[in-house]
Amino acid sequence: MDKTCEGLKVLIVGAGFAGLTAAIECRKRGATVILFEGNKERRQLGDIISFGSNSGRIFRSWPGVAEAMDPICHHSSGLDFRAFDDTFLCRQSWEVEESWGKRFNGHRGEIHEIVWNHALSLGVEIRLGSKVLEYFETDSEAGVVVNGERISGDVVLAGDGVRSLARTIVLGFEDKPKSSGYAVYRAWMGTEELKKDPATAWLADPTVDHHVAWLGPDVHFIVATLQKGTACSWVLTHKDDADVEESWSAPGSVDEAVKTVKDWAPVVHSIIRKTPQDKLVDWKLVFRDPLPTWISPKCRIALMGDAAHPFLPTSIQGASQSMEDGVTAAICLELAGKKNVPEAIRAYQKIRYPRVLETQRTGVTNRDNWHKADFDYVKKHPETVKLPRHAWILNFDCAKHVYDVYEETVESLRRDPDWKPDPRL
Ligand SMILES: Cc1cc2nc3c(=O)[nH]c(=O)nc-3n(C[C@H](O)[C@H](O)[C@H](O)COP(=O)(O)OP(=O)(O)OC[C@H]3O[C@@H](n4cnc5c(N)ncnc54)[C@H](O)[C@@H]3O)c2cc1C
Repeated sequence: MDKTCEGLKVLIVGAGFAGLTAAIECRKRGATVILFEGNKERRQLGDIISFGSNSGRIFRSWPGVAEAMDPICHHSSGLDFRAFDDTFLCRQSWEVEESWGKRFNGHRGEIHEIVWNHALSLGVEIRLGSKVLEYFETDSEAGVVVNGERISGDVVLAGDGVRSLARTIVLGFEDKPKSSGYAVYRAWMGTEELKKDPATAWLADPTVDHHVAWLGPDVHFIVATLQKGTACSWVLTHKDDADVEESWSAPGSVDEAVKTVKDWAPVVHSIIRKTPQDKLVDWKLVFRDPLPTWISPKCRIALMGDAAHPFLPTSIQGASQSMEDGVTAAICLELAGKKNVPEAIRAYQKIRYPRVLETQRTGVTNRDNWHKADFDYVKKHPETVKLPRHAWILNFDCAKHVYDVYEETVESLRRDPDWKPDPRL
């Protein structure tokens, strides 16, 4: 690194994977980093979360982090596909993409804790109970208002999630989510009850992690086991027109979940029925159109992660792309230096936007490939249900990419100062 972030004061909002990654990457380049998190404490929230090999590479670049994550993550060599009536369709092996690097699938809270501790160990200052209520910027600084205090820095990176407040200063209006027409029942539980039933005992196998997807008309049900057969997570994505707010803590009903797979194989019912009611979440999937921009008028405030681009879970890339944002923003700041923060922020957007847009689209195509399938056809051509695994998404080193394209990106922005991320929007 011939330039660093030394002398830069970076304010980051939201301690999700976008915010923590940006904090770690800026801090390791010498910036002073303050991370504001609205929650009063760090909690083990969520259930299964997936990081592809593109973000696995980021974890592996942080000393000790991948090693700490490995034992708690899911390890299977492939994903088995079955039809709703339990007919075996095919197995998608991960062997072909081994050379792309490690993937990490595990409990969001457990992985989050490891990353959080890594950020603390580098000297990131995390301020809990610090809900940002206002953003501001001038030509020379940007800042936030927290607990009545006005705090300034050189730049604000806002990773404040799907209900981002920062979006308002960036867009100049409040961006409302739309219903996606789908919801997901999600559960994370121990395998004690599964072990007692011969139909589900295989899921408590301590010697092998299982990963099985049952597909049916407009519904899919995916089960993963991990941690030596002691933990099981499942997700059930189904049509839902209820206009309920997106929340990771809305309780779900086992009876309602079973109703969505009424005519399905008994094994699916057995797994759902063995889920303790308090371990089930009903997550309404909202949708947002791609934003016309992720950066503020003076280019000192940038959106990252879900604040900039919520993903459908069927892309299996939401968390990974939020981490790529954090790395990209930090390297742009490093290469631009304190005097050129707006240049860094514009380059961040130009580098990230097209890649994110294309990746977001895969969430819709993957979902529709399963949900709209003709199951008579699928039984004859089972390979058609396999997930497309794109090398351009997964075999990607976002850090190297920024170093490779930064100069040409800045040059192009100088030639075209009015450049907009997507003129079609
Ligand atoms: C509680 C929770 C549980 C989740 N569980 C899962 C899961 O099980 N599986 C899965 O695939 N994805 C889960 N997600 C979503 C997933 O983490 C994100 O889609 C992805 O990792 C992108 O992360 P992000 O950092 O952009 O956003 P998030 O992970 O949503 O993080 C945003 C952070 O910003 C904070 N914040 C919001 N507004 C403010 C404010 N005004 N001031 C300060 N802080 C603020 C929030 O408290 C939160 O910590 C969960 C998200 C949350 C918040």
